[in-house]
Amino acid sequence: IEPQLPTITAPAEVRTLRETSVSWLESLRDQVLHEKDFIANASHELKTPLAAFRGNLALIHRRGQSHPEVIPQALAHLDQEAERMQALVSQLLAMSHIEGSTALQSDYPLALIFDDFAAQVQSESSREIRIERQTAKWVLTNQENTLYVLKIIFENAVKYSPADSPIILRLKDNLIEIIDSGLGIPVADRKKVFERFFRGDRAHSSTINGTGLGLALAAELAEKNGLTIRFFDHQPKGTIAQVSFTVSHK
Ligand code: ADP
Repeated sequence: IEPQLPTITAPAEVRTLRETSVSWLESLRDQVLHEKDFIANASHELKTPLAAFRGNLALIHRRGQSHPEVIPQALAHLDQEAERMQALVSQLLAMSHIEGSTALQSDYPLALIFDDFAAQVQSESSREIRIERQTAKWVLTNQENTLYVLKIIFENAVKYSPADSPIILRLKDNLIEIIDSGLGIPVADRKKVFERFFRGDRAHSSTINGTGLGLALAAELAEKNGLTIRFFDHQPKGTIAQVSFTVSHK
């Protein structure tokens, strides 16, 4: 004899609760998959310089005495790979630091943040910097995080453009733009550049060093602080990196 099961129509709250838990579990699952990918990628990226380390050390060991002329080049390689690894590790550390942190936000005149940033890069960089400054709004953000985001974008502008070309820093409304006359970012890459470890073909085929983590870091910080980063073409060549801020009601 089959038991007669009562038909239960879930009350609205139960349905909502169920839907919320399902979507929470789904996002947790995505996050775990994302973390697994990240660890796999990071390990792979660290293995490459390590293999180069061992290769060059073995070369010095094997041939250093009989052919001392191999030593300077092997040492130069070791130095280059050590630098690459250092950049990678410090960006990985910065990333894990950001992940667990919450950024306190306050109201700032965007002009103040812009001036701080401009002064900082002007004192640290040997590149010619042009300032274009218009009236700007008050914004809601975390100043330290914002300066970090702007620095990542500025360093890319310097890295991916000729040393004798100027970098323009532009302030307007709720926007800061960092403009270079370099390699440019193809339209198809403008979302991918925010993925961890992504490097564009133009960056790969050049001798410009990078880890592919800078903009991923910038994107995480931007999201936490209500900033949006967009890329546009700069004419005749290069990139306009635009950071827009959340306007405060002050
Ligand atoms: P990295 O510079 O270490 O490769 P990023 O995450 O900072 O990593 O940038 C990802 C990719 O975006 C770079 O490899 C490069 O292809 C592209 N990119 C970023 N900024 C610029 C720029 N100003 N001009 C040209 N390409 C850029």
